Amino acid sequence: MSESLNELRRSLAGTVIGPGDPGYDSARRCFNALVDRRPAVIAQCAGAEDVATAFEFARSHELEVAVRGGGHNPAGHCVSEDGLVIDLSRMRTVEVDGDARIARSGGGATWLDFDSATQAFGLVTPGGVIGSTGVCGLTLGGGIGHLTAQYGLTCDNLVGAELVTPDGAVIRVGPEENGDLLWALRGGGGNFGVATRLEFQLHPLDRVVGGLLTCAGEGVRDALRRFRDVVAGSPRDLSCQAVLGVDESLAPALVVAPCYTGSSSDPEELRMLRSAPGVLEDGVRAHSFIDQQNVYQSAYGENRHYWKGHFVRELPDELLDELLHRITALGRPPGGVLIESLHGGPKDADATGAVVGFRGAAFNVSVMATWQDAALDEQHIAWARETAAAIEPWSFSGGGYVNYMQADEPIERVRAAFGAEAFERLQALKTTYDPSNVLRRNQNVPPLRE
Ligand SMILES: Cc1cc2nc3c(=O)[nH]c(=O)nc-3n(C[C@H](O)[C@H](O)[C@H](O)COP(=O)(O)OP(=O)(O)OC[C@H]3O[C@@H](n4cnc5c(N)ncnc54)[C@H](O)[C@@H]3O)c2cc1C
Repeated sequence: MSESLNELRRSLAGTVIGPGDPGYDSARRCFNALVDRRPAVIAQCAGAEDVATAFEFARSHELEVAVRGGGHNPAGHCVSEDGLVIDLSRMRTVEVDGDARIARSGGGATWLDFDSATQAFGLVTPGGVIGSTGVCGLTLGGGIGHLTAQYGLTCDNLVGAELVTPDGAVIRVGPEENGDLLWALRGGGGNFGVATRLEFQLHPLDRVVGGLLTCAGEGVRDALRRFRDVVAGSPRDLSCQAVLGVDESLAPALVVAPCYTGSSSDPEELRMLRSAPGVLEDGVRAHSFIDQQNVYQSAYGENRHYWKGHFVRELPDELLDELLHRITALGRPPGGVLIESLHGGPKDADATGAVVGFRGAAFNVSVMATWQDAALDEQHIAWARETAAAIEPWSFSGGGYVNYMQADEPIERVRAAFGAEAFERLQALKTTYDPSNVLRRNQNVPPLRE
């Protein structure tokens, strides 16, 4: 293999890293420390031509392909054992056309890269809440964040792409060209090719009222209900999500993250959230959008993760009480339960323009087990599965959020995430663009004839 790696080195404008090379361990590291795989080669591509060359190399050496953007997918799909990684981390340029309000994002750009570039023009697109997450990976799975109610899902704002398919073809995707692929890229994952560029529509915004509200003690139960009631009925200028966890005494604690972009100096919904029972720390204030994008912090590659969840039709008291019970059931900090509201933008967007099947849901409820000690793997994974099972009776469609899915999700959950009809349409596209299922290390849509 070392001679072949040299051959690849000579034909790639980017960098080739093999086992034993400096940087190999950091280049193969995923966000999820549960995933520890050693690829045969990591091709850090510099452009579309490199990606086509890497596909050709993988084909001729019969290597499984993994695609790496920001490395955040909890399933660890960005790295494969003994395979070839198409690593896009060198392709992080974000170009902004301020007049047209369009951003062109390189295939490996992160949200920090993207927000820094667009905010220089006072513009945004709704993205993810952690700066190191990949723009493409997140968009291809949908995209929920601090501006979802205002501007819809991230993929609703995707207007074009440059895609390299596994046969090496470079395809331009937009409403007028390969529009069926644009539909598929809006939520259908990395199944059809490697996006070397994604293009987004932008919206004027620089300041928001946001931050975190931390609730603990007796009031948490009521605070959780208040969050549900206020947020479900909120106007489009307030996005909000919450994380249920535990405090130092292992009692339930709640962190609520509102993001208000309206013109009122004292919006009623925000006032109700801030005056909820149990609020111990009120960090809500007017600040820049970049500050809002920093309200959560997340360590990369340090913790073990197992996530499982459901989009839900509603959040009845019974379910909230069950979550409060489950959050303390492990007897140690289990991680958290993330509750993302889907009111506003996702419901207003043209549902036929994107493959995502969860617009009609009220909330996305995701159990996120997080721990460090490998000896506790089984217990934390069991906790996540059992907690997700408790949510299932209120499931919107039986499918989960592909962006948060682990690798062990059955194909039925992936199909249900899109709905049977949309899944069939995705399979037809997969058959056209990736008939051999080269891109299978993802929440996979298999071709019709494999
Ligand atoms: C800390 C953290 C915070 C998160 N926050 C949010 C959030 O706020 N909102 C939200 O909706 N999701 C969020 N996610 C989920 C995240 O959107 C998905 O896990 C997504 O897949 C991560 O993309 P990535 O490029 O960082 O990951 P990677 O692991 O590098 O890539 C994941 C997969 O995406 C595909 N992919 C990535 N880039 C490309 C490309 N250029 N072309 C083709 N396919 C590609 C590939 O199939 C790849 O295997 C978060 C995840 C983490 C760990």
